[in-house]
Amino acid sequence: MYKRNTVLVIDDEEIIKSMLINVIVNEYEVIGASNGKEAFKLLKEKHEEIAAIVLDLIMPVMDGIAFLEEFNKHEEYQEIPVIVATSNEEEEKEKRCLELGVWDFVIKPYNPTLLLFRLKNVIEKSRMIIHDHDMVTGIYTKMKFYQEVRQMLLQVKGEKFAFVRFDIDRFKMINNFYGTQEGDRVLKSVAGEMRNVAKKTEHFVYGRLENDVFACCLPYDEERVESIANQLEVNLKKVNEDYNIKVSCGVYIIDDYSMDVSEMYDRAFLAAKECKGKFISNIAYYDESMIEGMRYEQYIINEVNKALEEEQFVVYLQPKVNLVNDMPCGAEALVRWNHPTRGMLTPSEFIPIYERNGIIGKLDHYMWEHVCKLLRKWMDEGKKPDPISVNVSRVNLYNPQLIHILTDIVKKYNVPPELLYLELTESAFVEDHELITKTMEKLHKMGFKIMMDDFGSGYSSLNILKDMELDFLKVDMKFLQGKEFNGRGEKILTSIIRMSKWMKIPAIVEGVETIEQIDFLKCIGCDYAQGFYYAKPMPVREYEAYVERSKRSASPIPTEENFYLVNELWNTRSKISRFFDLIHVPMAVFEYHNKKFDLLRANAEFDRLFGIDGGNDAYIEEKLTTAKQMLLNEFSKVKVNHAMEDIEIAWTNNTWYRARFQVIANRGKTLLIMVTFLDVTTYKPQWND
Ligand code: C2E
Ligand code: MG
Ligand code: MG
Repeated sequence: MYKRNTVLVIDDEEIIKSMLINVIVNEYEVIGASNGKEAFKLLKEKHEEIAAIVLDLIMPVMDGIAFLEEFNKHEEYQEIPVIVATSNEEEEKEKRCLELGVWDFVIKPYNPTLLLFRLKNVIEKSRMIIHDHDMVTGIYTKMKFYQEVRQMLLQVKGEKFAFVRFDIDRFKMINNFYGTQEGDRVLKSVAGEMRNVAKKTEHFVYGRLENDVFACCLPYDEERVESIANQLEVNLKKVNEDYNIKVSCGVYIIDDYSMDVSEMYDRAFLAAKECKGKFISNIAYYDESMIEGMRYEQYIINEVNKALEEEQFVVYLQPKVNLVNDMPCGAEALVRWNHPTRGMLTPSEFIPIYERNGIIGKLDHYMWEHVCKLLRKWMDEGKKPDPISVNVSRVNLYNPQLIHILTDIVKKYNVPPELLYLELTESAFVEDHELITKTMEKLHKMGFKIMMDDFGSGYSSLNILKDMELDFLKVDMKFLQGKEFNGRGEKILTSIIRMSKWMKIPAIVEGVETIEQIDFLKCIGCDYAQGFYYAKPMPVREYEAYVERSKRSASPIPTEENFYLVNELWNTRSKISRFFDLIHVPMAVFEYHNKKFDLLRANAEFDRLFGIDGGNDAYIEEKLTTAKQMLLNEFSKVKVNHAMEDIEIAWTNNTWYRARFQVIANRGKTLLIMVTFLDVTTYKPQWND
């Protein structure tokens, strides 16, 4: 820390100066100036290296006294000791020098031994002071600050004190984007404000503890604390309007004066965490529940090994649903903690803690293993399980053993890797792009499917799509929530789904809670969804029953016996026929056989869409000419008991329809196909939007 080893000699007489230099040159680096002005030039450049100054009083341009007066105005030079060279007759001047804070005197002509002694003395003393002062801002360092707080609390009785800890949000960013010099400017501005407060406050101790962390201790007064916090922000804005700097202040109103100062700091720090990321308040006060939070965290960490051993963690499954046929098509495994005394805990109560401490890695392995075991069990029971996805925390993405661990688990249970989908949260992709891309590639080669979880929640979603081979996008639920829905959220979702189609990466939207959301997702062509609307995460047994139930209720009418139902459609007075006409969506039933079709029945909306106004078969066929090829194309793809993806069709006048084809009955190779057209124009991104 102490690189200062240079002595600055300021004297106009060249002979004396070189003599002086000769005396000290063996011990110190020496630089010389012939007057005060020159000296300031050197100070400006080199003040961080200068250990002491030897100053002559009588000089042209700027004499010693003028130099000292100016010198005292510079905060950043205050730790540099000054020794003044005098002759015995200058008593008045000596007095003035002492007033101006000179550290020592040497008598001219110099006695080399004495001079060296005096230099050594002042330099050592100043080093002790420097040790207590921060190099950048000149205010107390952590240790000194703690000592001073202790002293003040011992000496000042009958006052209630507050310990305030504050830091600058996104300070790292300022350093990275604008350079450390600019960062230092910000720090100095904070220190400057502290000095201002000190001038106005009787008992006030302050210091810089590390990087952008400062603290102060003062008699507690809510208004004063708040005005300090606000003034800090006002000053920081002056440093640079662009930074939009915010400080987070944590306040601990000291109620136990025997407590270590470092503990006071811890409490103020816990409080400061409360205001991180909040836009409105930059001050938070410590309360006992915060220390409770810390204790809870420790408890949760201590319990984990036992909980893993005793299998207290349970796999819950939340179905994913294919929106084309509303059928479950797999599930996501979500952990729950069946705690012996606290009951069933949800991930938010322990996952963030485990993520902070890296323990999440172990818990992930546990979940993967349990899911593979479950898949094995289903396969042994002769079921054809749908894939189950597991979450992979970012800690595991950096685990060089990740690929081995995953392949070992699937091998151990003899489960095809395609049945295990890996959900990686979007933010993890951003951190070490290259490493993660490589890991992804390897996992892909092993046969695992990769899903990007919480897509759209972070900053770099689109960038990631460019480079990563992904199998699924899992779109963040926030687009469906609150005010976002029915507004911009809708438009963003529409664009994401469209993009996922272009990129041929299927998308699944999470957090779907209402039928309106489902309808909307279907309209914009989203193929999969997951959310409370269909089912909440549930224990394995319930999931098994859910899948069974869905399968049973799934088989729609399309069997040979059901052909008669469709015959009802011929009867224009039948209930089904009237119902058909009431539906406000263009709808028609076609008979399809051997690359030919006939329109059997159409409702009024369908006629309107195709401009059919009564008429005979030939007339109708003519009206359908333009759509004929498209219809034949799609009819050739439909299969009995099989849901088909919808298709989107550009209609005239910039309108769009989403067509759905469903076999509703079959007799041998003759199929009855119901076609519905949904107007989805409003969900299309408009160029002039
Ligand atoms: P995630 O992976 O994004 O999981 C989706 C979360 O959304 C689940 O919360 C789920 O219950 C919830 N959710 C599903 N549908 C809806 C809905 O319609 N509305 C609302 N409001 N929420 C819905 P859960 O189970 O509490 O899990 C929270 C997060 O904890 C997960 O977010 C995941 O990041 C993490 N997590 C859960 N289990 C594990 C695990 O085994 N390993 C790791 N690393 N993380 C896990
Ligand atoms: Mg997930
Ligand atoms: Mg998610």
